[in-house]
Amino acid sequence: MTARIIDGKAFAASLRERVAAEAARLKAAYGLVPGLATVLVGNDPASEVYVRNKGKAAEKLGLHSVHRSLPADAPEQEVLAEVARLNADPSVHGILVQMPLPPQVREAAVLDMLDPAKDVDALTPTNAGLLLSGRAQLVSCTPAGVMMLLKEYVGDIAGRDALVIGRSLLFGKPAAQLLLAANATVTMAHSKTRDLPALSRRADILVAAIGRPEYVKREWIRPGATVIDVGINRVDVGGGKTKIIGDVAYSEAAEVAGAITPVPGGVGAMTIVCLMRNTLIAACLQAGLALPQI
Ligand code: NAP
Repeated sequence: MTARIIDGKAFAASLRERVAAEAARLKAAYGLVPGLATVLVGNDPASEVYVRNKGKAAEKLGLHSVHRSLPADAPEQEVLAEVARLNADPSVHGILVQMPLPPQVREAAVLDMLDPAKDVDALTPTNAGLLLSGRAQLVSCTPAGVMMLLKEYVGDIAGRDALVIGRSLLFGKPAAQLLLAANATVTMAHSKTRDLPALSRRADILVAAIGRPEYVKREWIRPGATVIDVGINRVDVGGGKTKIIGDVAYSEAAEVAGAITPVPGGVGAMTIVCLMRNTLIAACLQAGLALPQI
């Protein structure tokens, strides 16, 4: 068997068109330009690239974009003050504070300062709680992207066994909640889980968000299962070159899975456009408008 490829890149391209069209409609109909602010503390090269890409994507889709850069040694109070200023800025509807933060800045303090209505990464306790209560309007971007891909490529997942490997606040926990809300039977695994290969073999939907290159092997996969690889691991390929690979051993997994996301071009391709979609949703909620159907 050769797995069907879940083409996140193609889906993301069509979603980008819908986001751009909706942004244009909001501007024409209401003079509303959804605004996204990114905040970067320090100069980690990978974070700089992420933040720049987010800003570029926002502008390309017709959103307003601002960026705030703070030095790596910025005191926590300074970061909190910046977040408070963006909370109060009416041209900013979504705020993304790029993680990880330097050690002197507590992530929890920043999230407690962030206005949940502008929390487009859905990391605040308010948005996490709303997700748990089945009332979320802003959902963490990467899990939201995964659910869109599952809807498009698998359809109804009610009653399916889903395993999420990884329990981060950013991905694993919200992904498990969304799968549960879609009526899957959800198991969560982590570094203390016993016999992960056996647990994995039971899964109709196997979601790997571990951060370990090619950790999930062919023997772990139930024949015909849907494999969602969230991992983004940069590995050396010699000659000073690197490449990105996932948490799943892709080529061998693709021989047994029914459907699989490639890395790159799968889940990762969805995240930024889902962030733009969240910015649109946040802008509509703040303006008292109906939510965009995209
Ligand atoms: P994270 O915070 O690094 O946490 C990793 C999770 O994997 C933890 O829950 C950990 O368990 C678990 N884990 C580690 N080793 C394990 C093992 N040997 N067996 C089972 N579980 C193990 O995770 P994250 O931020 O969710 O990121 C995970 C991966 O997804 C990374 O490669 C990241 O780059 C990628 N990612 C991609 C996107 C995107 O596509 N845009 C977004 C988010 C994340 P414990 O909790 O027990 O430590």
